[in-house]
Parts: sequence; C-alpha cells; structure tokens
Amino acid sequence: MAEETIFSKIIRKEIPAEILYQDELVTAFRDIHPKAPTHVLIVPNVLIPTVNEVEPEHELALGRLFTVARKLAADAGLAEDGYRLIVNCNRHGGQEVYHIHMHLLGGRPLGPMLAR
Ligand code: AMP
Repeated sequence: MAEETIFSKIIRKEIPAEILYQDELVTAFRDIHPKAPTHVLIVPNVLIPTVNEVEPEHELALGRLFTVARKLAADAGLAEDGYRLIVNCNRHGGQEVYHIHMHLLGGRPLGPMLAR
C-alpha cells in the first residue's frame, strides 16, 4: 500500500484548501505556493503515487484531469491566451508530493518549458 500524502487529507476535507472542483474521481485546489497568477493542482481521488504506478484501470480518473483542466482554464479566462499542464515524476522530474497530480498554470507568459 502506498503511503498517503497531505493531498488525501485535502480530498477528504480534513485539512483546509481552496477547492475549486470535486467529483467522484478528481479534486482540484489552488497550489499553496503559486508559481503563476493561476496555479491549480488537479488530483485523482484515488492514491496513485507517481506516473510509474499508472494502470489501465486509472484511465477514467486520469482522463478526467484533462476535462477538469479544460473547464478550470476556461473559468479562469485562460483558454485563448493559453496555459501549461505539468505532471512531475520522481526526483529528476522534481516531484515533491507522491500523490500524482496535474499542475494547471497560466495568467502570464510562462516562458520556455525548462530552465536552462
Ligand atoms: P510537485 O513538485 O509536482 O510534487 O508539486 C507539489 C505541489 O504541491 C507544489 O507546487 C506545492 O506548492 C504544492 N503543495 C504542497 N502542499 C500543499 C497544500 N497543503 N496545499 C496546496 N498545495 C500544496
């Protein structure tokens, strides 16, 4: 069994977070240290630690990350100018929280994809 992170507590509303969306598959909430004017994390409710543990049975929930990202980006007025979706994996990917999540970032030009 993978170890729970703070994100499971946010999903269960045991600790505070600014939740923007929740359904039976995913939860979206504002990042506590925003890197852009809009910085939202979209998380499957089921605990999948990293992309390395993704299985076919997760496809519905992981697909939902994109439809919710699309909705939240539109709600934030980001659709036309654009935005960035990021999923980090493990140490070289810069992953800090081991509950898979998609970052939705936008509201300003985000520059090159990777620091050089
Ligand atoms: P990653 O580096 O992809 O694992 O991203 C983890 C993100 O979770 C970081 O951007 C953190 O700022 C964010 N984060 C950590 N704890 C919380 C929290 N309690 N509420 C909201 N965001 C958080």
